[in-house]
Amino acid sequence: MHFYVNFSPGDEKQVKAVVAEAASVMSYIATKVCGSNMDSCTRVRFQTWFGHPRDGKLDRVREVISRMATCLSSSTVRFKYKVGVPGTFAEALAGNKSDTYKQLSSETYKMTIYQAFFGLPRYADVKNNDVTDMDDSQMETFFHELSHLAGGTDDEDLDDGTKAYGASDAKLLITQDANHSRARNNADNYGFFCMAMGRYRYLTF
Ligand SMILES: [Zn+2]
Repeated sequence: MHFYVNFSPGDEKQVKAVVAEAASVMSYIATKVCGSNMDSCTRVRFQTWFGHPRDGKLDRVREVISRMATCLSSSTVRFKYKVGVPGTFAEALAGNKSDTYKQLSSETYKMTIYQAFFGLPRYADVKNNDVTDMDDSQMETFFHELSHLAGGTDDEDLDDGTKAYGASDAKLLITQDANHSRARNNADNYGFFCMAMGRYRYLTF
C-alpha cells in the first residue's frame, strides 16, 4: 500500500509514475541479479557500478536489491511532499539518530519528496556517448533513497573524506576498496546501477 501526502495532483501523478516504473524495474533487476546466473548485459552493468562480481561479497548487493524490490511490491510506503531547499531532491526518513537517512526494516517506509525533484528529468540521458556517465534524474534519486530505506545503505565517503555522490564518484569508490565493500553499500551506486538497468533494459550491449 502506498500513501501520497501533501502533493499537488500533478506532482502526485508524477511520483506515482516513478513508483510504478521503479517497481517494474526492481522486479526485473531482482530476477537478473539474484538468480543463479547473471547474463552478460547485467554483468557489464554490475561491474560498472559494483566492481567485478567475483570480487568481495555478492550477497550484500543481492540483499539490498531484493529488499528494494520487496519494499515496493509488498510494503507500506508513505510518500510526503515538502518544499525543501534547492538541490535537495528527496530524503528517506529514519528514527535512527546516528544516520538520518537510513531506515531498514520498518512496517511503514517513509520518503520525503522535495520540490526540486520535479525539476529533474524522469531518466537522464547518457553524456559524451558514455553509458556510464549520467546526471541526476527522478529515477536515480528514487532508487538512491529506496536503497537507504529498504537496504540500509549509506552515503559512503571517498578516501578524501567527501561523500561519493554522482556517477564519477560512484565509479571512483569501486577503485578504493579491493573488495568493493563501500561501493556495494553506497546509495548512489545502487541509484545509477538501477537507473542503467531500467533505462536500457530493452537494449543489449
Ligand atoms: Zn543518500
